[in-house]
Amino acid sequence: MSGQAVPIMEPWDRHNQALVENVHPRAWVNPIPADRYHLVVIGAGTAGLVAAGGAAILGARVALVEREWMGGDCLNLGCVPSKALLRSARAWADVRDAGAYGVTVPPGARVDFPAVMERMRRLRAGLSRTDSAWRFRELGVDVFFGTGRFTGPATVDVAGATLRFRKAVIATGARAAAPPIPGLAEAGYLTNETVFALTTLPSRLAVIGAGPLGCELAQAFARFGSTVTLLEAEDQILPREDRDVAERLARALARDGVRLVLGCTVHRIERRGAEEVIDLTSRGRAEACLVDEILVGVGRAPNVEGLELEAAGVAYDRERGVHVDDRLRTTSRRVFAAGDICSGSKFTHNSDAQARIVIRNALFLGRGRASGLTLPWCTYTDPEIAHVGLTEREAGARGIPVRTYVQELDDVDRAVLDGDAGGVVRVHVRAGTDRILGATVVARHAGEMLPELTLAVGQGLGLATIARTIHAYPTQAEAIRKLGDAYHWSRLTPRARMLLRAWLRWTR
Ligand SMILES: Cc1cc2nc3c(=O)[nH]c(=O)nc-3n(C[C@H](O)[C@H](O)[C@H](O)COP(=O)(O)OP(=O)(O)OC[C@H]3O[C@@H](n4cnc5c(N)ncnc54)[C@H](O)[C@@H]3O)c2cc1C
Repeated sequence: MSGQAVPIMEPWDRHNQALVENVHPRAWVNPIPADRYHLVVIGAGTAGLVAAGGAAILGARVALVEREWMGGDCLNLGCVPSKALLRSARAWADVRDAGAYGVTVPPGARVDFPAVMERMRRLRAGLSRTDSAWRFRELGVDVFFGTGRFTGPATVDVAGATLRFRKAVIATGARAAAPPIPGLAEAGYLTNETVFALTTLPSRLAVIGAGPLGCELAQAFARFGSTVTLLEAEDQILPREDRDVAERLARALARDGVRLVLGCTVHRIERRGAEEVIDLTSRGRAEACLVDEILVGVGRAPNVEGLELEAAGVAYDRERGVHVDDRLRTTSRRVFAAGDICSGSKFTHNSDAQARIVIRNALFLGRGRASGLTLPWCTYTDPEIAHVGLTEREAGARGIPVRTYVQELDDVDRAVLDGDAGGVVRVHVRAGTDRILGATVVARHAGEMLPELTLAVGQGLGLATIARTIHAYPTQAEAIRKLGDAYHWSRLTPRARMLLRAWLRWTR
């Protein structure tokens, strides 16, 4: 056995039992450590799994250490369960809005919240096979369950075993940060570690923090039937996005019944019986907001505790996590880091991409750089907000002159036919050129439209290339091609128009 208690995933039904059987099997026996490993990976979230699996496939001797659940946040407590809930929420919105499509829904249609949560648990258990301890053992990885901690510059201790390494990767991720609000801890609150264990719907829910997590779950719970109040300290939701993009989503959330409280300071929280009272001020107005549950989504704190990083000579702090250079090397020449533990961009695909860099740099004299990655992201609300490259605000702050091309989805046939108007594609090109520096898409399936733009930003392609690319009709991605046309039209100077007209007159 691993020597540690196997963590329980609530509720302990057959789906969660199947999940845990993959991600932390109860009967698991840690292997006898090899004399020395090419790579010891601490943390089996996305970054750790990609680093360990990739290195093992290439022939390295690899140990992977996980204290809780293989798959980390993404599979167990993040992307996977949240996206399953969002799909159910979208199904409800389709039923609610069916009349607009000429479909009459019999009265009495409602959301069955326990069934929504069970669906999520069933799908999560199914997906967990990919991340399972058994699969990684088959790949040739020595999987150790237990808390990993450094005992020297080239040794890690786990569950009483010592793992000697040539190189190590810290991939211990992050957890929900708790805001310093008086009374919050005593009153009790949900985070991503507990919200997916709910089996009954809170009738009144406050969500603190209107970042991607807060917006996604606020919308989902509002659609399930909770009365949702979304509290945000900044004066816009999704503070990382351009304001007009955030405002489009704010309008959509309001249509779903989410009450937005922006520019908000929470002074104190108090539990009174079954209720929680949130004492807040928003734009100078004081208010007592009464709810049954509070969900906190105000950022992530890196998991540096207990690793005994000092023993390995690895510098870190509790805000940014493990310090790395552009090649993802820590201050120890033997130790690298990847993913949420060392990165400000906390996305699964970033953890994956960084782990691939670490394999090359740690084991094969590679010189990959984190700054060389083109990192898209998407907030999976309805509509989705997808982004890659620079925002208009960032370009302005860096003094890069840009020209922005905008295509409203109201003028794109497929979006109109789908009833998905109200979205937009905005592409920023370097002024005087067609070179795409950044793009934002607001659309129901914006994340699916983004790869073309990510390819363009990453490969230095321009709007002229996009204009030459045939897009199937009718697709929402035609919005992007239309921007290519707009670029061409913008180059038609009065003189060029005059010459074209003269040519046509002459050849008539
Ligand atoms: C609700 C929510 C929704 C999200 N949705 C998306 C999304 O849609 N798309 C997206 O790209 N990203 C999303 N994310 C972010 C994404 O989940 C993370 O960026 C990603 O999981 C980070 O992977 P990681 O491997 O760096 O860390 P983690 O997944 O956190 O894995 C770290 C692992 O290390 C283990 N560990 C920690 N300390 C030790 C130790 N000392 N010894 C042994 N093991 C240890 C932990 O138990 C954990 O399993 C979401 C996050 C949340 C919370």
